[in-house]
Amino acid sequence: MSLPILTTDASLLTLTNVARVYHTRRGLLGGSVDVRAVDGISFTVMPGQTLGIVGESGCGKSTTGRLALGLEQPTEGHVTFEGAPMPPAGTAAWRDLRRRMQLVFQDTLGAMDRRLSIAEQVAEPLDIHGIGDKSERADRVAALLRDVGLRPDQAIRYPHELSGGQRQRAVLARALATDPALLVCDEPVSALDVSIQAQVVNMLTDLQAARGIAMVFISHDLKVVRQVSHRVAVMYLGRIVEEGDPDELFADPIHPYTRALVSAIPVPGPRLLPRIVLTGDPPNPADRPAGCAFHPRCPVAVPACRVETPALRKLDDRRSVACHLASTNSRIAV
Ligand code: SF4
Repeated sequence: MSLPILTTDASLLTLTNVARVYHTRRGLLGGSVDVRAVDGISFTVMPGQTLGIVGESGCGKSTTGRLALGLEQPTEGHVTFEGAPMPPAGTAAWRDLRRRMQLVFQDTLGAMDRRLSIAEQVAEPLDIHGIGDKSERADRVAALLRDVGLRPDQAIRYPHELSGGQRQRAVLARALATDPALLVCDEPVSALDVSIQAQVVNMLTDLQAARGIAMVFISHDLKVVRQVSHRVAVMYLGRIVEEGDPDELFADPIHPYTRALVSAIPVPGPRLLPRIVLTGDPPNPADRPAGCAFHPRCPVAVPACRVETPALRKLDDRRSVACHLASTNSRIAV
């Protein structure tokens, strides 16, 4: 079932040909090597919509989230928020903008100050940005805790006194305190039990719809991404290899890597796609293969794949794929 889409012409967040390169050393005596953690990606997030980003560990998902928030500076390309260039991190303009864009990530204990009560944590962004007076802040904190399903008595508890699911609710309340236009959620439910995951995801999508918040939702869990996203981008070794409508992409994946990912989703009953087991090493951004980075693991690679890097091409209005063999009227037999 497709999620309702808010229609507006103005994008909230745009990444254009963004790359993030780190210079690292190979061992003690080795020379330096450039690691392209993110390698020329472009996407747009519209107000109130969710872009899901999926891929294996090391594919550049988290770096993409940090680039979207201005926590990392692009080595190439540019990021705009509400049509204006993202100010450099740490500047007054960027700190001011941070109230409009918040990060929610997996490690809830790491995200919280263990010395502060839950109410104090949620009030912190209001204090930092000078929002409301003391009594207005107290009212707002109480409302936020109620919105995320925490009880009033949990306001005076400390992070270690709550369960993982309750802590993630508190982290979300804090992220919502400044009325952000954008949430970047990096594996927000991966550390939770499956039953709690469903509750937190439902709460997140309800709050998003009610408040018109845009999200970049990063996860290796394709089922969750399908549930929450209006668009999905599949990343492999720093690049987007397929992008499209989640229902269509999961029902009919085109890129061989997407087909392998989708074929591995556990489903009750007969599979739509036969299970595709990828061989070869998992991706290493410090040792990118020439041509299509997926070619050492691709079951349908052709000689051109070793030398020519496929660009992300629009196949139609709803799907873009980076594969030499992808075309509008034929599917790749994997
Ligand atoms: Fe496979 Fe070649 Fe397509 Fe890359 S470009 S996914 S190696 S067929």
